[in-house]
Amino acid sequence: MTKGEKDLYRQAAEVLASRKNAVALTGAGISVESGIPAFRGAQGMWERFDPAEYATIGAFLKSPEKVWEMLSEMIDVLVRAVPNPAHACLAELEAMGVLRSVITQNVDGLHQAAGSRKVIEYHGNPSELVCIRCWKRFPSREKIGEGVPPRCACGRILKPDIVFFGEPIPWIAQEYSETEARECSVLLVVGTSAQVMPASDIPRIAKEHGAFIVEINPEETSLTAKITDIHLQGRASLAMERLMETLRNGTA
Ligand code: NAD
Ligand code: ZN
Repeated sequence: MTKGEKDLYRQAAEVLASRKNAVALTGAGISVESGIPAFRGAQGMWERFDPAEYATIGAFLKSPEKVWEMLSEMIDVLVRAVPNPAHACLAELEAMGVLRSVITQNVDGLHQAAGSRKVIEYHGNPSELVCIRCWKRFPSREKIGEGVPPRCACGRILKPDIVFFGEPIPWIAQEYSETEARECSVLLVVGTSAQVMPASDIPRIAKEHGAFIVEINPEETSLTAKITDIHLQGRASLAMERLMETLRNGTA
């Protein structure tokens, strides 16, 4: 690490330690090192299943069988994934009383698996399936075990309880996230390009209410030049581990 980089980690650690009132906003990038490909710059399954074609509510309503080809492959990837050190560091920050919550756009459950307790799942999670005709809910594992695409007793193909493009955010998640954004004094933005609305509003809301913005991403994003105070450029696991080490020892 260069001296400049060390200084950035030191500054970020000092702000976290002194304010002790941080919130994390995470996106697909934090789970890339757990083997789940992000949509953008993607490899693997998203080359075959274009999210613009498969991940919209319109596509699900029109041809749910086709969308379930993507969903069953995605669920296979998710069930095999395990948390990486970046998820573990966020759980540790919560246990230390530095982080008050994690707002995640991910649907992989890896924050909870790593031990985070206060997790706002902005885009839902696929552990339940819902019938969009009679609103019955079913545990995914059981129903998928009976065959794909899984069906309700009424015959309708079930929808995983995740937010497709074109669907609104569950209002509790949205309200709660906005409150957290207004009340935090540091926002850690990890592995999100902040291009998907309305999650991309969270950093702006936090900034307008006085939060210090620390961004962790190997790339620059639309936030970096405009609202980020410190950009720790690198993979989530490495950057989070360095940040934790700096926080513990005062050195990186
Ligand atoms: P995104 O818009 O959040 O973009 C991914 C970001 O992660 C990019 O900025 C990229 O530079 C960064 N990144 C890549 N590798 C990284 C690493 N090792 N460490 C840190 N950052 C890294 O996400 P998207 O893929 O465009 O997805 C859009 C929506 O779909 C979001 O809601 C997203 O969470 C969801 N999605 C979720 C999962 C999951 O649950 N794991 C996977 C794919 C997509
Ligand atoms: Zn039904």
